Amino acid sequence: MLSVEEINVYYGNIKALKGVSLNVNEGEIVTLIGANGAGKSTLLNTLSGLLKPKKGKIEYFNKSIAGKPAQDIVKAGISHVPEGRRVFANMRVEENLELGAYLRKDSKGIREDFDKVFELFPRLYERKKQLAGTLSGGEQQMLAMGRALMAKPKLLLLDEPSMGLAPLLVKTIFNIIEEINRDGTTILLVEQNAHMALSIATRAYVIETGSVITSGTAEKLQASEEIRQAYLGG
Ligand code: ATP
Repeated sequence: MLSVEEINVYYGNIKALKGVSLNVNEGEIVTLIGANGAGKSTLLNTLSGLLKPKKGKIEYFNKSIAGKPAQDIVKAGISHVPEGRRVFANMRVEENLELGAYLRKDSKGIREDFDKVFELFPRLYERKKQLAGTLSGGEQQMLAMGRALMAKPKLLLLDEPSMGLAPLLVKTIFNIIEEINRDGTTILLVEQNAHMALSIATRAYVIETGSVITSGTAEKLQASEEIRQAYLGG
């Protein structure tokens, strides 16, 4: 579904991604783990068209999307929930969700997806008239995910969905990620919480200072002594 080959991405003179390659197959949950500043967000931002690679290939269903405008990438079926859940604070919950569907014209499908999002996140239904800026952190994360789903993605890019959330809520969010996946959406998940990420992932890539240092099935990485020491607290 998605194939990334040897991409380099720069911020000015700083090389943030150094020859990164990875692939995601339809139906998978793939996770990227790595320390602060490793380049995980840079990778998602490049996939969603916010940054352009200087070198390398990005193919989605065998078509190049490297450097394409973000809106074309959303239209092709890739939605991105960026780090820090940027919702439109001065708009209501339901208006935020409507915006997620702004590139779609199938009004019946949009209505169905509204219902699906509210089923997935009953909390958002209860608060649909509330201004997004007054939601709790966890509710804003749900809204950011719900908004991305309103674009009806085939591939959902999630950047640190557990950041700053209480443990119980982290569990809820991860359960919902699994449910979204079961419903047929492929997921590429960036997480600092490697433990939780590996518990739901099919496969994982470990990124350090802009390079993939290892990859494999979630089971394989969970069993690796090196990974346990570095990312799973020993
Ligand atoms: P975190 O979990 O802390 O967000 P990350 O793995 O997502 O970490 P990135 O945010 O992708 O890491 O950052 C990768 C590198 O690129 C870091 O060295 C960072 O300082 C640098 N970087 C990120 N954004 C910019 C920017 N806008 N301008 C310059 N350098 C940047």
